[in-house]
Amino acid sequence: MDLEKKELLEKISKLELENSGLRKRLEAFESPLSADSSKLQHTKIDEDFTLDEYKRYGRQMIVPSFGSRDGQVRLKHSKVLVIGAGGLGCPALLYLSAAGVGKIGIIDDDVVDTSNLHRQVLHTTDSVGIHKCESAKRYISRLNPHVQVETYPYRLTNSNAFDIINKYDVIMDCTDTPATRYLINDVSVLCSKPIVSASGLKTEGQLTILNFKNMGPCYRCFYPKPPKPETVTTCTDGGVIGPAIGLMGITMALEAIKLITGYYTKENFKPFLAQYSGYPQQTLRVFKMRNKQHDCAICSPSATITKEIITNNEIDYASFCGKVNTNILDSKYRVSVRDFHENNNPKSVLLDVRPPEQFQITKLPNSINISWDPILTKADNIDEYFPADFDKSKDEVYVLCRYGNDSQLAAKKLIEELGIRNVKDIKGGINKWSEEIDSKIPKY
Ligand SMILES: [Zn+2]
Repeated sequence: MDLEKKELLEKISKLELENSGLRKRLEAFESPLSADSSKLQHTKIDEDFTLDEYKRYGRQMIVPSFGSRDGQVRLKHSKVLVIGAGGLGCPALLYLSAAGVGKIGIIDDDVVDTSNLHRQVLHTTDSVGIHKCESAKRYISRLNPHVQVETYPYRLTNSNAFDIINKYDVIMDCTDTPATRYLINDVSVLCSKPIVSASGLKTEGQLTILNFKNMGPCYRCFYPKPPKPETVTTCTDGGVIGPAIGLMGITMALEAIKLITGYYTKENFKPFLAQYSGYPQQTLRVFKMRNKQHDCAICSPSATITKEIITNNEIDYASFCGKVNTNILDSKYRVSVRDFHENNNPKSVLLDVRPPEQFQITKLPNSINISWDPILTKADNIDEYFPADFDKSKDEVYVLCRYGNDSQLAAKKLIEELGIRNVKDIKGGINKWSEEIDSKIPKY
């Protein structure tokens, strides 16, 4: 029995030896073959593409609306400028580069911050602190090495906008300030470039195409006058849900693909504005928009804005759009966070006028919460919120908000309309408190 086992073991080891010898001989055959095959994958097999590109883009090339191989060739020869590598720009960049746009320009002067990461999905935790456009370039090069990326880690200005925009075929407006939107619009119209434009805030978004084949409409046709600065809410102030703004970025990428592949023509293109709502049920409603306005200041025959006017800085887009007045109250009604910190009057009331969602994130001890909008703006009596022995004629009320703007409006109302005499606004709000008094108060 033992002898039989020994023989069997010897046979097995002999077979294993033979087996490994055979494997080595086979590998010797395979390796030059696989090196050849990998080389072939990346060698052009016709005038346009490599095998890798056919494999990479095949699933979109076979979709009829895409325009087949011609559509892919057009993408490969196209140049797209993405202005803003944030909540809209990141998903747009992802899909544009994955789809095989030949050259992508990215302009953004900002650096990646931790508060961006929930929605700006090209950036990763280890990119915090580096320029957004460099972070995006790094990601794109890993996603699709066939895409050439050029970065502009500074702001678009009156003086550089023509040079940059002129180099591209399609302009993606992924910014969030009206001043930049007007600049992008005016320069793109003068350079005859179409703009894919979107915006997003909280749970909603909008999407449109401007200046299609110079037929209009343009941003100024929609909005001849800028919105009042106090009505403009940014993602920092109003908040934003990542997938909601992300979806807008993705729809932008698709509109750019439709423009580049020639899906839209002068005959079939109709000006539109798509509005997305994430809640309660997701909806995308598309509205027909009017054509070019006959008196538009930039895209009509009676236009008054020229390249010279822009490059000579005769239009100051920031002041055209205005700034929120941040000094509403007289300085005698305002105190610093330190002054308030050192005030130990137990009878004083601390009124926090931030929305309840923000109050829930963080608050100072013993504060009461009445949100400025919508409660305090409409209230004609707030006695129920105050302690029963509160004396309107002399007891102190300190008003706090996030950054110190709403609190000034609220303090003004308390003094002028609600008859409270001793009101002080806390300058810089709870954000300043976190910076100067207690760093354990989270910033959001
Ligand atoms: Zn116009």
